[in-house]
Amino acid sequence: AKVLVTGANGYLATWVVAKYLESGYSVRGTVRSLPKSTFLKDRFSHYGDRFELIVVEDITKDGAFDEVIGGVDVVVHTASPFHFKATDPEELITPAVRGTTSILSSALKHRNTVKRVIVTSSVAAIREDSPQPRIYTEGNWNNAAVEGVKTKGSAAGSAAIYLASKTLAERAAWDFVAVHKSEISWDLVVINPPFIFGPSLSPAPTIDDINTSQREIYDTLTGARTGERLQNQGNWVHVAVAAEAHVRAAHAVRAGGQRIIVRSGPFFYQDILDVAAELGIPNVPRGVPGSTRDIPVITTLQTTKAEELLNLTQVTPLIDVVDESVEDFKARGYRG
Ligand code: NDP
Repeated sequence: AKVLVTGANGYLATWVVAKYLESGYSVRGTVRSLPKSTFLKDRFSHYGDRFELIVVEDITKDGAFDEVIGGVDVVVHTASPFHFKATDPEELITPAVRGTTSILSSALKHRNTVKRVIVTSSVAAIREDSPQPRIYTEGNWNNAAVEGVKTKGSAAGSAAIYLASKTLAERAAWDFVAVHKSEISWDLVVINPPFIFGPSLSPAPTIDDINTSQREIYDTLTGARTGERLQNQGNWVHVAVAAEAHVRAAHAVRAGGQRIIVRSGPFFYQDILDVAAELGIPNVPRGVPGSTRDIPVITTLQTTKAEELLNLTQVTPLIDVVDESVEDFKARGYRG
């Protein structure tokens, strides 16, 4: 069987490609730039012609994927901008939404071969900011971010712009499926991860090349996050688990038509410093050790679907992922 993975050079996608290859699939990856992606060719060269790379320069163009989707059984769409630097909402929303509808239109044209489409959404499309502790399920949508960007535009802030881009892109995917219900033969699975942590498989030479979620750990270890911001909290998932979910989603029959949260657990930024101290990593700020112990967890992500539909039950301790991340950062020049 053959899978198409968009944005194959990305942090998550590289793991997704590796796991599909390991499980026997042929993989066709799309990238925007070949020179930036030679590491993929090197890394997966032992798979011979089971791995190929194709350039799709502009994923927002109508028909951008029409040709590359030919002969493919499974489509995994991960390509989408992920950063907190946008000043104009359209900078993220256009590629997120148009990229999604563009690949779904191409999958519609190839309905005789494509059996399943898997889209990487995010907990960003589920969780709304709430001061009160809340349990979230796949029934929840982040309407607040969309409203915020709609009413305030750029003033909503770069984080809200990203959250809205993921919410709108995922909605566009479900809307597309609803509108074309009678014409399509494939089904849609959406994976919703929180922050993805863990080592990158790309040998990018510098620390500037780490992606946005790895940077959360890096910035905490290097003291860019201080004071009250160390008491902030979030949820995370190991990159290997997030990638595995994208592979199991191809086989799990009952996953069709579902959005699925995948997560390893909640964390406080202070916890990253506490486990770094436990690991004996040098020159890491201390913050206020143990200070988050009595703060209630604000966001609980229910994972019943991941367990039932994908049989994903792994829970990785934060200390392990921080350890692995530091090794990755060291390879890029981090000296602590
Ligand atoms: P990366 O930044 O490492 O990879 C993003 C990929 O998308 C790259 O291949 C990039 O290509 C491509 N891309 C970005 N912008 C565009 C664009 N305008 N047009 C075409 N391609 C584009 O991010 P991640 O691996 O972290 O994220 C991958 C996916 O996972 C995204 O959909 C993200 O929203 C989602 N996600 C990530 C989480 C995380 O914590 N990392 C959490 C939840 C969801 P190029 O290299 O050419 O820019």
